[in-house]
Order: sequence, then structure tokens, then C-alpha cells
Amino acid sequence: MADRYNTDVVIVGAGPVGLFAVFELGMLKIRCHVVDALEMPGGQCAALYPEKPIYDIPGHPRIEGQALIDNLLQQLDPFKPHFHLGQHVCALDHGSNAQDNPVFTVKTSSGTEISCGAVIIAAGAGAFGPNRPPLAGLEQYENDPNPAKGVKYLVRRREDFRDQKVVIAGGGDSALDWAISLSEIAASVSLVHRRAKFRAAPESVSRMEDLVQAGKIDLVVPYQLHAVQGVGGMLEDVIVQDLNGQVRHLPADVLLPFYGLSMNLGPIAEWGLDLDKNHIAVNPETAQTNHKGIFAIGDIASYPGKLKLILQGFSEAAVAAHAIHPLLFPGQALHFEYSTSKGLPQ
Ligand SMILES: Cc1cc2nc3c(=O)[nH]c(=O)nc-3n(C[C@H](O)[C@H](O)[C@H](O)COP(=O)(O)OP(=O)(O)OC[C@H]3O[C@@H](n4cnc5c(N)ncnc54)[C@H](O)[C@@H]3O)c2cc1C
Repeated sequence: MADRYNTDVVIVGAGPVGLFAVFELGMLKIRCHVVDALEMPGGQCAALYPEKPIYDIPGHPRIEGQALIDNLLQQLDPFKPHFHLGQHVCALDHGSNAQDNPVFTVKTSSGTEISCGAVIIAAGAGAFGPNRPPLAGLEQYENDPNPAKGVKYLVRRREDFRDQKVVIAGGGDSALDWAISLSEIAASVSLVHRRAKFRAAPESVSRMEDLVQAGKIDLVVPYQLHAVQGVGGMLEDVIVQDLNGQVRHLPADVLLPFYGLSMNLGPIAEWGLDLDKNHIAVNPETAQTNHKGIFAIGDIASYPGKLKLILQGFSEAAVAAHAIHPLLFPGQALHFEYSTSKGLPQ
């Protein structure tokens, strides 16, 4: 039997922007449910850079990704939203009620069905997943429960990698940032890239080169990943090869391939919304899409002048909440008030 719910708004995506939308809706006494494909809230901040400092959140000179999410969760707590984690939104049915207002049913991969009067899509770049290197037998090393053994696509806690033999593959910011950071605590760090040029920030490249000189990072260029080897599902070696077929064996407890993320709008692309290169086109005055009652905010939203920054997503959350109010409560005046004047709803 499917779990069925009824609420005012369903938010697709519990990234920083979806979480702040819960707060903004709550301040207007709008109830919501939040669905996320990941097992924990926080989107990119929690999944990709929990321990990295962010410097451009207003009022926070420096805050780590996970700390920002913890604060957002604390801020929305008075509104007690219902979270449905570890499930994809896979379908959106629409109809209308007797007053000709839209009524939606959001369906998830776990069979949950939520009826609502408006939907906010805060799905970032869609359901994101790592670009996996095409290596035979990779899967057997991907599910090691130890966060610093086998093949992993993200670093949740730097400390887990202490005294581990780490092989990092890739030439972008993530590869270099983690090679630099883990070289301070790991038993060894090898950085594998197909060429000697890197796509990372110039300061990171020169820092990495210093660490190579100091013997803290083994720079393995121009090589590509060729195979992974181990015993009983435990990774032992990463085998790399250059263009001449020359092979090297790199001892490894863990391989971190940082080949970027594949962004997939998935079923959202089928919902009849105007798209702009894999993003959802919205009217910036309301954050509404071309479909009445469906809004898009955060990284997934596109309009002229859009900046993919958390702070801009926060503002879009406020804009969407104010545009949703008259849809849900037609004829009910909404007087603009500062939070300092009205306080938190009791
Ligand atoms: C390494 C790195 C550093 C960054 N540094 C900064 C910085 O300094 N300052 C800054 O402003 N920004 C920074 N960003 C960008 C910032 O993280 C994003 O702008 C922000 O996360 C966007 O938030 P969001 O809520 O729109 O989307 P996301 O954080 O991407 O969250 C979207 C959520 O939606 C979920 N989802 C997607 N599709 C579905 C579906 N069909 N069903 C259910 N759930 C779904 C995903 O699982 C995800 O949890 C950085 C990004 C990276 C990768």
C-alpha cells in the first residue's frame, strides 16, 4: 500500500535552497513535505563538501558545508516539515480543484504519493551521481562499508583517511583539493591524471607542485586508470597505464576518482516544463515555471542574470513562497512583514 499524504507544498530536493524554502513557506504558515533522493538532507553541501569552508554566505565570514546545513535544519525546525529521504520523485500528476486551482500528486520511487497545491523544484542539477571510470570489476570495490576503503566518489570525513594509501584520479579542483588536504594525514597520496596540465585553480596547482617536490604527493602523469585489483573485495592495487602501454601498480586502500558529476534531470525533464540547457526556465519575479503552480529555485532554475550561488537560491526561495501564497489562499491578503515584526509563528 502506498503511503499517501496531503499538504500545501511539496519541495523536490533537500539541498540548502530547498531547506531554506521550508523556512520561507513556514513564515507564511504554508505547510510542506520535502523529498530527496539522498539519505540525508543537505544536497551538494553535505554530499560533496561537508568539511570545506564557504566564504560567501551573508553573515557567515566562513562556514563549512555541513555546518551550514545544520544551521538551516535548526532554522526550519519550528515548522516541522515531513521529510521523505532516500526516494526519488519520479512522477508528477496534475489536475485542478473545484476553484480551478492546480492540484498535484507527487509520486516517489518508494511508492509515496503526496497531494499538494504547489510544487517547488529545488533539485540542484537533478539527481546527481559521479562519473564512474569504465573499469572492469569496479562494482565489487564500490560498496565497502568503510568510508576510506575500496572505491569512493566523495570524502565525507577527512579524518577517515588518516594513515590510508590513497589514489586520487582526475585533474580538476576536487582532485587537487583532496590530494593537497589528504597528503597531510594519509600514509601516501598518488595523483593520477592523463596529462601534466590541470583544470584546477592556479593556487591549488602550485601548492600541489610544492607537495610533489616535498615528496608528499606522488604525481602520476600522463597516466590513466587501467584496472583495479584486490583480494576478497578488498582493494590492494590501482593499475595505471600511459599512452605507450607502460603500466604502473599503485598500492591503494582507497581509490577516489574525481571525474565530475553526471547531472541528470531525470523524470523532471518529462514534466512539460520549459527547459534551458538542462535547467528549468522560470520567471524571476515569481520563480514560477511555465506551468501554473510549479516553481523552480536554486541551481536548477534559469533566468537572465542567474548566478548559481546559494545566496541567490535563498532569495528565490523567499520569492517563490510569496508567489505561492495567493495560489493556495486566493482572496486572503498577504501583508509583507519583517521577521523581526512578526517573530516565528507559534
Ligand atoms: C565543491 C563545491 C564548492 C562550492 N562552493 C560554493 C560556495 O563557496 N558558495 C556558493 O554559493 N556555492 C558553492 N557551491 C555551489 C552550491 O553548493 C550550490 O549552488 C547549491 O548546493 C545549490 O543548492 P540547491 O539546493 O539548489 O541544490 P543541491 O545542493 O544540488 O541539492 C539538490 C537536491 O535535490 C535532490 N534531487 C534532485 N533530483 C531529485 C529527484 N528527482 N527526487 C528527489 N530528490 C532529487 C538531490 O539529491 C539534491 O540533494 C559549491 C559547489 C561545489 C560542488
